Amino acid sequence: MVDPASQALSVSNHVSTDGSLGPEVAAFDAVSSDRDAFRFEVENPVSDDPVSVALTIADRLPILYNLDARSGNRYRSHFLRLVGDGEDVSALGVLNQQNVLAQIGDDVIIRYEPGTGCADRHRIRVCRPASEQNNDHPNQSRHDVRYLPLRITVFSRPGRATLASAVSDSDQTLRLPSVADIQPSGHVLIGSGDGGELVHYAGTNAGAGELTGCIRGVAGTAPIAHAAGAPVVYSSTTPSASKTDIEADLTSVNERFAQSGIKVRRPVTIDLGGAGSSGRVLPPAVLAGYRFPSVFDVPNQEPPTDSEQAVIALRSLEPNLIEIFYVDHMYKIDDSAQAPQHGYSRPALINNSADPRAQNFAVVSSARKVLTVAHEIMHLLLNDGHRVGDPRTALFNESTTDSKAPDSTKRIGPYPDATAAGVGVFDTSKIRASAETLPG
Ligand SMILES: [Zn+2]
Repeated sequence: MVDPASQALSVSNHVSTDGSLGPEVAAFDAVSSDRDAFRFEVENPVSDDPVSVALTIADRLPILYNLDARSGNRYRSHFLRLVGDGEDVSALGVLNQQNVLAQIGDDVIIRYEPGTGCADRHRIRVCRPASEQNNDHPNQSRHDVRYLPLRITVFSRPGRATLASAVSDSDQTLRLPSVADIQPSGHVLIGSGDGGELVHYAGTNAGAGELTGCIRGVAGTAPIAHAAGAPVVYSSTTPSASKTDIEADLTSVNERFAQSGIKVRRPVTIDLGGAGSSGRVLPPAVLAGYRFPSVFDVPNQEPPTDSEQAVIALRSLEPNLIEIFYVDHMYKIDDSAQAPQHGYSRPALINNSADPRAQNFAVVSSARKVLTVAHEIMHLLLNDGHRVGDPRTALFNESTTDSKAPDSTKRIGPYPDATAAGVGVFDTSKIRASAETLPG
């Protein structure tokens, strides 16, 4: 029994094709191993005609369920459950309408209407998990949604060109074939590897294809002469992610964290750079890609890399704010091949410094997958690295899939077999506790 006045329906953690909802006509006393599953019951119906109940969520069309299981004067439907995304709704092998799409905060209207002028109607909110019904959080009156505060910064994509003419080690003007897609001021990297020189330029001359007001050999590099044709990396005027890309990631975050009663707090501040949303100018240490530590080591974590320090310097001082930075390319610092990585997060656990900005942020790249941002947020909320034993279908699994298929890496514990696996048992309660007050 769910009491709509004090309780909520919650989005299931189960793999939606796991068979835990049982057959289309479930026995009256059948039980489901999915503790978030539910069924309808009508007692003493107006007539013995087929008894049915209509379910309406948000502004979608009602779904009709027949209550075919009977015991005396009580009638029950089969089991159904709420799921977070469309792939679960239309999953193969699941009976019609057994998986129903819902978001945190949706109203579920359940209506038994046997005849004209005679209706029994209940409204239940989609929210916290059944395991946390009637908890003592002050948000109880809002049915206890936990709002995830995010801020997003999008860096521009690096652009690549070659010097149009040779420069000495002191020239203050650089010439490129074109400066049409370069930020109005910023840094360029000339040359590559250890022989690279970072140059700050104050302006551009579009007609001449020039970078002007150059300060040579900045950020610990040495000014040197370069031949025409030397490679140049610059901060382009194309952002590494569009607003549409980011909204798709946030949708994914909401779909996943619905399982734990967590929702992204709106509005989300998205910094797409200055005029024209060209992306934030790349700091010198991120021009050639975002470097992050190869090893996640507690308690002997390496200090932040130069790229990480550049991002930390841009961070908000607001506590309890998760920041996500979008870059085009990121790689492990000791990977000479610089293989593209999807994302990296800095949970409080590995912050060995006294700087609170050096934790609770994540960086994701253009190589990210549909679940990457949600996965990185899991690291921050759980305040943990990968764990041995997370099931193949866990959002926290190290090998995040590029799919929202029912058996992809998108479930948050407790998993059906969480106790046996030894992980995930308390994940939902833990991340709900840290969603509004981040681990520090
Ligand atoms: Zn991870």
